Amino acid sequence: MEHRCPVCGRPIEIPSDPVSGELVDHDCGATIEIVVLDGGSIRLKPFQGVGEDWGE
Ligand SMILES: [Zn+2]
Repeated sequence: MEHRCPVCGRPIEIPSDPVSGELVDHDCGATIEIVVLDGGSIRLKPFQGVGEDWGE
C-alpha cells in the first residue's frame, strides 16, 4: 500500500511494521506522525513538535 505525505502529497515511505506515534522525516522537510488505527489501517498527520518552529 502506498502512503502519501499529508503536507506535500508525494509518496512517503513508512516502516513495514509501524508503531503508533512513530515519527518519519519526509523529503519536503515535514515530520510526519504515524497513527495506527484499530484494524491496522494507517493514518499520517503532520507532527508539530512542542517548542519547535514549524512551517515558518
Ligand atoms: Zn512531504
